Amino acid sequence: MNVLVAGGAGMIGSELCTALVARGDHVVCVDDFSTGRLENLDHLVGDDAFAVVGADVSEPGLGARIPGRRYDVVVNLASAASPIDFVVRPLEILRAGAEGTRQLLEVAGRDRARFVMASTSEVYGDPDRSPQSEDYVGRVDTMGPRAVYDEAKRFAEALTAAHHRHLGTNVGIARIFNTYGPRARDDDGRAVPTFVRRALDGGTLEIFGDGRATRSFCYVDDLVAGLTSLIDSDFPSPVNLGNPEEISVDELVVKVATATGRQPRVRYLAGRPGDPTRRCPDISLARRELGFAPTVGIDEGLARYVATRTELDVRPALSAS
Ligand code: NAD
Repeated sequence: MNVLVAGGAGMIGSELCTALVARGDHVVCVDDFSTGRLENLDHLVGDDAFAVVGADVSEPGLGARIPGRRYDVVVNLASAASPIDFVVRPLEILRAGAEGTRQLLEVAGRDRARFVMASTSEVYGDPDRSPQSEDYVGRVDTMGPRAVYDEAKRFAEALTAAHHRHLGTNVGIARIFNTYGPRARDDDGRAVPTFVRRALDGGTLEIFGDGRATRSFCYVDDLVAGLTSLIDSDFPSPVNLGNPEEISVDELVVKVATATGRQPRVRYLAGRPGDPTRRCPDISLARRELGFAPTVGIDEGLARYVATRTELDVRPALSAS
């Protein structure tokens, strides 16, 4: 298949491009490298089945700037996604969710391609129900500090669903829960990369709140398997993709200490407004419709991740800058 992957130079996108090329697809990655890195794709450059285009998906005329081939699939992963980005790139995030998604949907509509939208568990906001299943409508504060991201993705979902209902576009919507992997940026404020880097450097782990908030962490290989199944299906409704192994932030600290072999100091800071207190996916729908079954638990995933960090210190192509 010909696949357009927007945001393909990022942590998840680069792994998806790698998996698709490996199974024989032809992949064009479009990325503005705002939070992703060309180095993430070094191993694919020069492969006839792969091309990279540097472009902002929110800028007008996207369709004319990507290679003129007929795409079978368009995947939209193009958005900054870390808490630090919510503060430094709020308008870019809103534009990517709105204008970027609109333009990519137009490419999909033009080519009669399947369109797969990378949405997020953040559409559930600070949930008063756990685990979160797809029929939960969420609790998002439109004025909160995370709203630029939450609402950008909610709009992107609504736009995607409207193209499906009114224009007949074949769509899929993945609600992705916290995912980590080797190509994460150490400095983007997400829990696993931040804690592991601090622990390895002998620094202090800073926890917002009392440490009892929960998260569910998915290793990127499992997530990519789920995304690939969604690409290959014609399932049109939102579907959760994540690992339902729910742990508290305090438990994560203990696991990071074990995986790194360090005993980091911990400092508790005031909770950040809008930070969800619970995050746990109900993945029954994904299991049923996509055969999705994550296999990498948090202990194994952290061990793998830490191995890439200690390796990374001598592999600049993948090092976090
Ligand atoms: P990432 O920052 O590593 O990847 C995002 C990629 O999109 C980067 O390569 C970036 O340069 C690119 N990009 C951003 N804005 C763009 C634009 N306007 N035009 C072109 N390219 C642009 O983040 P990630 O963790 O790999 O996330 C990928 C997608 O999955 C995002 O859409 C994110 O919202 C979604 N998601 C991720 C998680 C997670 O835990 N990692 C959870 C939920 C949803």
